[in-house]
Amino acid sequence: MSFLEVNDLTVAYGAIQAVRGVSFTVEKGQIVSLIGSNGAGKTTTLRTISGLLRPVTGSVVLDGKPIHALPAHEILGLGVAHSPEGRRLFARMTVEENLRLGAYTRSDEPGILSDLDRVYDLFPVLGERRRNKAGLFSGGEQQMLAIGRALMSRPKLLMLDEPSMGLSPIMTQKIFSTVRELRDEGTTVLLVEQNALAALALSDRAYVIDLGRTTLSGTGPELLADPRVQEAYLGEG
Ligand code: ATP
Repeated sequence: MSFLEVNDLTVAYGAIQAVRGVSFTVEKGQIVSLIGSNGAGKTTTLRTISGLLRPVTGSVVLDGKPIHALPAHEILGLGVAHSPEGRRLFARMTVEENLRLGAYTRSDEPGILSDLDRVYDLFPVLGERRRNKAGLFSGGEQQMLAIGRALMSRPKLLMLDEPSMGLSPIMTQKIFSTVRELRDEGTTVLLVEQNALAALALSDRAYVIDLGRTTLSGTGPELLADPRVQEAYLGEG
């Protein structure tokens, strides 16, 4: 049994079928990426795992328990945190207020304080600017804050949607090395990325999603070396 099992998922927005048969597994302690072009269905897949969308058919099983019919707050309570595409921060709230929103299901103040410290250790710039409003931050700092907010629920599974979007290559490397650090500390990570090269270099395992279906899978190095992946997603071939 894998930690997360997504089986033959189909998801629609009204008449538009966005996901048409996505299947993959995530093992505990690994970084798993979903790569694929714009509109392939990656974001829809993450939103379905989070409980923000309901599948038409298929299942999502976390630690042996089907979760695809549960409300989103229960899925969060089971340890699934989602840092959404576009970050969705509260621009007029401070760093610390945004981080505390990630802990809204918790009431253990000492634990929340120690997790705030952990986020500030991971991203010192957030600690230095904890009283500043999030809206004044650069894209990279906002991405750190979005990841930090997701970490405040102490997730077992951290889902990151396009963390490199709009970031410089150096900032992307910084974010990705933090993701590796989190994995090494035991957090399981499900990453959605259009930056296939950076994602595959980081991943223990990856899946290609094309037109709403999982079409290829392998370890990061296997997919980096696959001519089909090179041609379609790495700008080579
Ligand atoms: P991106 O990287 O652009 O987010 P993606 O792989 O994450 O791409 P999705 O955002 O999941 O893809 O979109 C899959 C399909 O569903 C696309 O055809 C998209 O146009 C459609 N879609 C997404 N959101 C909606 C919505 N709210 N209403 C209708 N169609 C939608």
